[in-house]
Amino acid sequence: MANNISNAKIIRNFERLSTFTNPLKINLINTIFSKDISKIFEFMTHLRQLISKYSFSSKDRFLTYVKIDTQSDPKSTSSPSTEKQKDLAVLLVKELHEVGISNAHTNEYGYVYAHLESNVSKDVPAICFCAHMDTSPDCSGFGVKPIIHPNYQGEDIILPDDPTVIIRLNEHPDLQEQIGKDIITASGTTLLGADNKAGVAEIMDAVAFWQKNSSVQHGPISIVFTPDEEVGRGTDHIDIQKINAVYGYTLDGEKRGHLENETFSADGFTIKIKGISQHPGFAKGRMESAIKIAADIISKLPKEYLSPETTEKMEGFIHPVDIQGHVEEAQIDFILRDFDTLKLIEYGNLLKEITFDVLKNYPNSSADFVQTEQYRNMNEILKDHPLCISLAMEAMKLAGLSPETTSIRGGTDGSRLTFMGLPCPNIFAGEHAFHSKEEWVSVQDMQKATETILYLAELYTVGGNR
Ligand SMILES: [Zn+2]
Repeated sequence: MANNISNAKIIRNFERLSTFTNPLKINLINTIFSKDISKIFEFMTHLRQLISKYSFSSKDRFLTYVKIDTQSDPKSTSSPSTEKQKDLAVLLVKELHEVGISNAHTNEYGYVYAHLESNVSKDVPAICFCAHMDTSPDCSGFGVKPIIHPNYQGEDIILPDDPTVIIRLNEHPDLQEQIGKDIITASGTTLLGADNKAGVAEIMDAVAFWQKNSSVQHGPISIVFTPDEEVGRGTDHIDIQKINAVYGYTLDGEKRGHLENETFSADGFTIKIKGISQHPGFAKGRMESAIKIAADIISKLPKEYLSPETTEKMEGFIHPVDIQGHVEEAQIDFILRDFDTLKLIEYGNLLKEITFDVLKNYPNSSADFVQTEQYRNMNEILKDHPLCISLAMEAMKLAGLSPETTSIRGGTDGSRLTFMGLPCPNIFAGEHAFHSKEEWVSVQDMQKATETILYLAELYTVGGNR
């Protein structure tokens, strides 16, 4: 049909299909002009038609995955931190084999890798889609009973196994955009595990789609499912060489249409306090309790600012996460977070100042400080890779969404992958209220995420020439 319409008309249609943003617009439009434009329009339309006929498998996959307990454990030193994560890894490999990806495999660390060969003759950058299999240690993931609430109409959702757990529209304003959609929740005693099994299901569905629809173009694609993201170790044993991609995308974001290209920069900070111990009956004028020094330090932390409970959006914080000790020694562990990496040095210096100030009242005591890098704001790298951001934004438009770039007040596997040489922004997965019993996801958002993956991979075959 494309041969019967003029090139000008095709361009107009193509632009209507997707309004390109600069500088990618020029890049892509140039590529399109230099190629067989009618063919490109044809295959985008072709994909759209196939998607409209496709019976998505993400919901059923998701319902299966969440029933497998994959909670990770921050106290464990093994990899994966919990053996049970491998149960999901094994199932995913089996399912990948079933759809025809015979190279899919898992390893001793519980990672899953799979590769799809390019089905186009030209040179297209390899891309990777990544999601994590574990669920948060903050809330039980054992015996998850997912419940579908079809055709949601804005009502409060009362979870049957604990009716005190209520998902209220006014506390979850994103639900406003889900009227008429199908919401999945847990039953009230566990988290749901949409973080990040929604992402796993969406990627799996895209793979199933490609295997069923071999006429849909894509370059080389790597799939990676990681363990232990929730305990900050999702990339500890990742094999970047094996992934062998130019750009990566995690599907671990919240709201439909969001692309996260900024994360916190993160440091750990430890204060080790040495006090002076004495028999308490004979301690007058001699004892300097490390416990009291630690308490004094904590009481002097900023409260109205630089605190998780009083900050939002782009504001950073200093957050004590652990304290232990006795009279002679005490240790306080902090996490420091800000989008501006240099601020982390300031926060460390502030903790030192507070400590030295407190120690003026304890002249024979001392403190040591250790500041350790945890992860960095991925935008420090991503800003030099506009193509991987722009193409994802375009893919979301093609999926009928209004894309937005946002920042995440945390880190993702993608933050670390980005600094390991695989620029890796975070695409929405539709997961909401994660790490809690109120967690929810909508079936239709999961489908939109899969569509985004499909359009994105195809866009790379249009404008992604190296
Ligand atoms: Zn996650």
